[in-house]
Amino acid sequence: MSRRRIPDVVIRRLPLYLRILDDLDHTETPIISSQELGARSGVTPGQVRKDLSFFGVFGKQGVGYNTGNLREELRKILRLHQQVAVGLVGVGNLGTALIRYNVAREKPYPEGTGLKLVAAFDKDEKKVGRKISGIEVFSLINLPELVKSLKLSVIILTVPAEAAPGVLNHCIQAGVKAFLNFAPTKLTAPPNVRIHHSDVMLELESLAYFR
Ligand code: NAD
Repeated sequence: MSRRRIPDVVIRRLPLYLRILDDLDHTETPIISSQELGARSGVTPGQVRKDLSFFGVFGKQGVGYNTGNLREELRKILRLHQQVAVGLVGVGNLGTALIRYNVAREKPYPEGTGLKLVAAFDKDEKKVGRKISGIEVFSLINLPELVKSLKLSVIILTVPAEAAPGVLNHCIQAGVKAFLNFAPTKLTAPPNVRIHHSDVMLELESLAYFR
């Protein structure tokens, strides 16, 4: 099955499976069953088996999946076996916190693979040239050349809502096709561009209902 025809919900569960496998000691747990993977990720064993079968990954019937192999397969499927260079635009309160988080957190990826924040951008000249946790802040004007030289393929948007559409277009023109948007605004893009949204306020507002 082509990458395009696999349901989004399936792709979104894969990092969850990967995190569970990353947290396991593979010598202590060399095999994991779909029951266990499902229980730990909050889906049924059947769903686990179906999700993985989309990619031709099958466990041994009645036994399960080899944890080390499954982890490698998931990294390949998500293309995290290569280095994925990430940029961030908007070095304000949230942008700065995310840069610090990225650098400080424990990295589960083997050297030369996985997500890596490599550059930040801002329109404020006073911020350009500064380094935050070793990550340099560049002017947005330099984005197209840095997309090429650093192979930036994912951009985090932490600019004000009114600036987000313009920044998004600038990045798309430079060739970026994947975005994580924190600005509280709906963004539109061509079908070959993927935008995921993250919004703490929406999460909190829906939690208000469950109190
Ligand atoms: P901030 O004002 O502290 O930072 C915004 C930064 O963007 C500034 O450094 C500014 O110079 C820069 N900027 C503005 N226009 C730009 C442009 N055209 N090009 C490049 N840089 C530009 O704001 P903040 O508190 O860090 O919030 C940033 C965004 O994140 C806002 O849209 C806010 O609503 C949103 N936010 C989202 C969540 C969430 O859960 N999704 C949480 C907090 C904030």
